Amino acid sequence: MGKASAWLKHLRMRRGITIVSQAFFMWKLHQTPFEELTNNIFDVLNKYDTFFTFPTVAYTAKQDVSLIRTIVQNGHEIASHGYKHVRYQFLPKEIQEQDMKTSIETFKKIGINVTGFRAPYNMYNEDTPHLLEKYGFLWDGGIGYKPENRKSNSFFKVKLNNRDSTFTCIPLNLYTDDLLIDVLKLDSEHMSKVFSKVLDHTKSNGGLVMFDLHPIRIGQKKYISSLEKLVEYGTDLGGWFPTVSEAVKYWNKNKTWKHDAPFCGLLTGDIDNFVFFRDYLSRLSD
Ligand SMILES: [Zn+2]
Repeated sequence: MGKASAWLKHLRMRRGITIVSQAFFMWKLHQTPFEELTNNIFDVLNKYDTFFTFPTVAYTAKQDVSLIRTIVQNGHEIASHGYKHVRYQFLPKEIQEQDMKTSIETFKKIGINVTGFRAPYNMYNEDTPHLLEKYGFLWDGGIGYKPENRKSNSFFKVKLNNRDSTFTCIPLNLYTDDLLIDVLKLDSEHMSKVFSKVLDHTKSNGGLVMFDLHPIRIGQKKYISSLEKLVEYGTDLGGWFPTVSEAVKYWNKNKTWKHDAPFCGLLTGDIDNFVFFRDYLSRLSD
């Protein structure tokens, strides 16, 4: 066996181990019923009069319609995270369109009019923004994850045919819960410190921050206190924490934050799947 092929074999094994340990970690998280996770989140948010936006896979939403309706009835927002959790970046325009359109129709059947979108894995190609316009989305919450957009502290537009997009893009903070928990292995207390620093920074530049906190992680008993500290500290600083649609509409109309808040904090977290075996595992074979 040549050196190169030995190295390739080593890489494949490493990748195998990573996938297995990540899958085991996710399996453990999925032992908590999803309703318990969202209830933990609601308890915290209600206490501080703050709101959350859940980009949700429409196929998943169909599996528990009443939970999805409860989220909206509590004043939070459901956005589209596609119909299936697929990689838009590698799909032809027609297939992307099919997925996006089916997601919108699926939510409509549930009685929810989605106005925001975040592509799975935050992966887009040059066709995706055109589709976001075609389907009249108000905002996109994934284009803002690109390294050149992440550090921005205000809403922005992308260029389409040499003009600004009709929809608004939002920078997505680098410190996602995947990074803090899965990669950096931080506990709740250390996560809170990271969030506080981000909030201090956001307040000092008078801007906007959007957090990416998946209910499957942040809703767990083990991590929920980091969300609580985030909103406690953020509201102490005078920050406004509405749903994404409310923030975008308000900003577009007034070019300021509600109650002249010194900054706006957006709490978002994708709902990819409710259960491990049927949904999560099927994605590994993508
Ligand atoms: Zn996702």
